[in-house]
Parts: sequence; C-alpha cells; structure tokens
Amino acid sequence: MRDFAYARAGTAESAVRTLADPGTSVIAGGTELLNWFRLGIAAADNVVDIGGLDELRGIASDGDDLRIGALATLNEIGEHPLVTQAAGALASACLQAASAQIRNRATIGGNVLQRTRCPYFRAEEPLPWPCNKRDPGSGCTSLAGRHERQAIFGWTQDCVAVQPSDPAVALAMLDAQADVLGPAGPRTIPMREFHLTQREAADAGQPMRETRLESGELITGYRLPASADGQAYVKVRERASYEYAIVSAAAAVRLDPVLPGACGAGRIAAARVALGSVAQRPWRLTLAEAELPGTPLTREALIPIIERAMADAAPLPQNGFKVTMARNAAVRALLTAGGAS
Ligand SMILES: Cc1cc2nc3c(=O)[nH]c(=O)nc-3n(C[C@H](O)[C@H](O)[C@H](O)COP(=O)(O)OP(=O)(O)OC[C@H]3O[C@@H](n4cnc5c(N)ncnc54)[C@H](O)[C@@H]3O)c2cc1C
Repeated sequence: MRDFAYARAGTAESAVRTLADPGTSVIAGGTELLNWFRLGIAAADNVVDIGGLDELRGIASDGDDLRIGALATLNEIGEHPLVTQAAGALASACLQAASAQIRNRATIGGNVLQRTRCPYFRAEEPLPWPCNKRDPGSGCTSLAGRHERQAIFGWTQDCVAVQPSDPAVALAMLDAQADVLGPAGPRTIPMREFHLTQREAADAGQPMRETRLESGELITGYRLPASADGQAYVKVRERASYEYAIVSAAAAVRLDPVLPGACGAGRIAAARVALGSVAQRPWRLTLAEAELPGTPLTREALIPIIERAMADAAPLPQNGFKVTMARNAAVRALLTAGGAS
C-alpha cells in the first residue's frame, strides 16, 4: 500500500476544491477505499476525510421529501423511524447489507460508489489475469472464465460485472435523487440513472465508466419522495448475513381499496419494482410497472408480467439461473410489499 497524506475537510466546499487535484480521494467510512488501496485497485497521494462534516449528516423530513445525508451510516438509516415509515425498502436493504460492524461504519454516500465484487477485478496486484476495469484494453477474464454471479442485462464483451449495492436498488425503485456538489455548484442525479451499464457507458464512448458522478463531485445526500405504499426488499444470498446478493428486488405497492363484501386477492393500484445484482445498475422493471395496475396481487398473476418485463435478459452460459431467481425475487417483493406474503 502506497503512503498518502491525510487531512480533514472543514466544509463540503473545501473538500470539493481539494478534489480538483486528480491525486486526491475523499474518504468517508473507509470500508471500500482502504481495500482498494490495499489491493491496488486505486491509489491516492492525498486523502481528504469528510467524516467530520455535520452538513453531510442527518435524516430529516423536508416538506414531502425525506432527506438523508451522505454520511448517514447503513445502520442509522435502517433503524431510523422516518425511513422505516416512508422508505421501508431502503431501511430493509440497508439492514441486509454487510455485517452489523460494517454497517456502523459504512456510509450511504460511499455505498453507491462501491465497486463490483467480480473476483477477477478484486484480485491483489500484480493482477494475474486481464481485467478491463483494472487495465483497460487487457480483456475480460470473467467472460471466458467463471461468470455465474455476473450480469444478465446491459453487459458487453468488455465487462460482465454487476453493481452489488443493496441500498442503490431501493433508492432507484423509490425515485430518489442524489444531491451532488461539484466545482460548478450543486446539481441532482436521479438514482435510476446514477449507475451506467457497460452498454450505456460504451455508447457514451467511455466503456469503463460506472456512474454519472463526475470526478471532483461530492454526494451531499439523497432526497426521496415520502411514500405511504407498502414496501419490501428481498435479498437472495448464500447465507443469511454478511453476504452479497446473488439477486435482489425492491418493490413498492399500493392496492385498490377493497369494496365491502368483496372477497379474493386485492388488486394493484400502482407498483414499482427494481432488481439488484443483475446489471451494473439497479434494473427497474418499467414494463411491469405499466402493466401491474389492475392486476390481482397473486403469484400466478404476477409471474407472466414479470417474465414479459424481463424478456430482454441476456444471460451468460453459467448464469441462466439468475433469470428465474430474479423473477421470483421480484414476485416475492411485490407480494410482500402488498401484504400478501
Ligand atoms: C466485508 C464487506 C461486506 C459488504 N457487504 C455489503 C452488502 O452486502 N451490501 C452492500 O450494499 N454493501 C456491502 N458492502 C459495502 C459497504 O456498504 C460499502 O463499503 C460502504 O457503504 C462504503 O461506504 P464508506 O463510507 O465506507 O465509503 P469509503 O470507503 O469511504 O469510500 C468509497 C468510495 O466512495 C467515495 N465516497 C465516499 N463518500 C463519498 C461522497 N459523499 N461523495 C463522493 N464520493 C464519496 C470515496 O472517495 C471512495 O471512492 C460491504 C463491504 C464490506 C467491506
């Protein structure tokens, strides 16, 4: 690990000014950044600690919105009553991430900027195999090697990795906006568009770009429209704790009021649903969202709608199972959000 100079930022503006130097990184909880330094994924001459900036803290109502500061930890978010009431899928996603110790340190600002868990990318330097993310132009070892955990949407021959964040899936499903401060001032980025698939990045002429955050920009927080809809986050993983998702799904459901004397399943008035760990960005099932109103909240009715919305999935030879697993996760998230399971 290379030596670096360490300093504490006094204000968000001063942190942004220091980021103008390309050799500078900000550090929040440090649970990702320090691993990157250790593995040789990233290096910096200067590290600016934003952990003391009160202006990036806090969880509060702001009119009809919920505002979550970038320095809020995953445990703070998961346990906060405003979040559990108005953004239950986000609270659940935060509490299903990592371990209790890491969640006490990991911030929501750093979480959405975490990088893929692809084992070929995460290897210690000197890298024993090609990886376009580590060494652009060298190739993708996962494509010809093991790729059972990789993308089923949006991948290219250059890279098949997925974005592993749990909270990002809920933020995208809930139509959250990231508040960002950069050299040109503040702006917002919709979380549905924050991450880029490899295909989107290639089409934009930057095949290895992963987010729409520009270098030198700081996430100051997130703004979520408060929602009274039932919500759920379903995470499918190999063990119940301290494990990344194989696939996940976040959903919000509002049911039509049940008429007196009516029996049978309630019908959906409106629904939102997003998949996680299936692409390099959270994957909103917008076709399903358009079709779901008026549908009975039953497994039988939901399955064909989710399957139609996932018809453009392009699994790799080893991960066809993720299509079925993601479909089932989406159905379970919708049923749970609507109170039917
Ligand atoms: C063992 C382990 C298991 C994990 N399991 C899960 C899991 O199951 N699900 C899941 O979702 N996550 C998981 N994580 C990821 C974890 O949640 C993230 O590492 C954490 O949230 C990152 O936040 P941080 O504050 O530590 O970021 P840091 O390590 O401080 O920073 C990460 C990156 O974000 C940048 N950054 C940080 N804050 C800002 C900001 N406000 N504005 C701009 N850039 C910023 C840094 O410069 C750096 O590039 C796991 C991590 C570990 C180590």
